Amino acid sequence: MRPVRNGFTAGAVIALAAGLTIGAAPAQAATPTAAEHCVDGTLTLRALQSGCTVASGSVALPDGRTFTVPAPGESVAATSSSVPGAAELPEVVVSNTGSSGVAVRIDDVWKGSSAAASAASRAAAAREATAPTATTRAAADPKCTNRSYATTGYRWAGSVQWYYNESGQKSTYAKDALRKAANAWTGTIAACGTTVTSTARNGYLRLATQAPGLTDRGGCTSSNGYSVMGWGKLPAGTLGVTCVWYDGSGVAKESDQRYATGYKWSSTAACSGGRFDTQAVATHEWGHVYGLAHVKTGTGQVMQPSGGYCDLGARTLGLGDLTGIAALY
Ligand SMILES: [Zn+2]
Repeated sequence: MRPVRNGFTAGAVIALAAGLTIGAAPAQAATPTAAEHCVDGTLTLRALQSGCTVASGSVALPDGRTFTVPAPGESVAATSSSVPGAAELPEVVVSNTGSSGVAVRIDDVWKGSSAAASAASRAAAAREATAPTATTRAAADPKCTNRSYATTGYRWAGSVQWYYNESGQKSTYAKDALRKAANAWTGTIAACGTTVTSTARNGYLRLATQAPGLTDRGGCTSSNGYSVMGWGKLPAGTLGVTCVWYDGSGVAKESDQRYATGYKWSSTAACSGGRFDTQAVATHEWGHVYGLAHVKTGTGQVMQPSGGYCDLGARTLGLGDLTGIAALY
């Protein structure tokens, strides 16, 4: 039996709608006056509205998360998975356009510099316009009949080379679980009575001591060139968060993940009792790494925003997951 899942927001689809709205907003926002530097330190969304430029620093969101502003021309996206019924952390993209300032997308709404938001939302809308419309059919278990998928707007040009930091791990099986999760999306994938070929690739390198670039509130810090998966605090209700840094063309260059130490996790290949299955949650988080966003609760896909205890079904892809990864790669 599949668990009840709640609390979904169709981020990518709504982002398209928001993009069109903002795109139609005043073009004079992009007046060619010389942009000023923002004040140093931690910036609010309000402070970014002027379109001031940021070479380094952080932006603080109303929910308490802070994100280190990526280098000019680059963006960072944070996506997560949550426990059923918990308030979901909104999807966030921080996009530094350089001369037009910094735009921040929180679920469906772009904030920050209006010129940067217009540019970022137009780019997102152009990418989303190629995504097929989701189809939904009534079925007892829609996992193998529902073709829904959504994309984040980035993808990898090559293999995701990654490390694992076992510090604080709540599952001795986690490294193996992550490797299986990463490989669930690659190569020849047979599921739901169909077979697809995905050119998504990853390579596990070795244990690392670098910490994943995330904060205790689930924000993303700066890119350091190492994709590291590990453990740490996260807000209540959040099981895992994936940060991905990418360039202005949507080419990803680094991804870090943090899994929540505040929950009980399966410590073997099996899972029992009030624990979350490490491999199942990691399969979802790796979907984010490769560029997939959330689909609606009830679609039966790995990319639903939340999963319950020992949700072993989420170790294997649904039809929408298969369709999405094959479309991206
Ligand atoms: Zn997620």
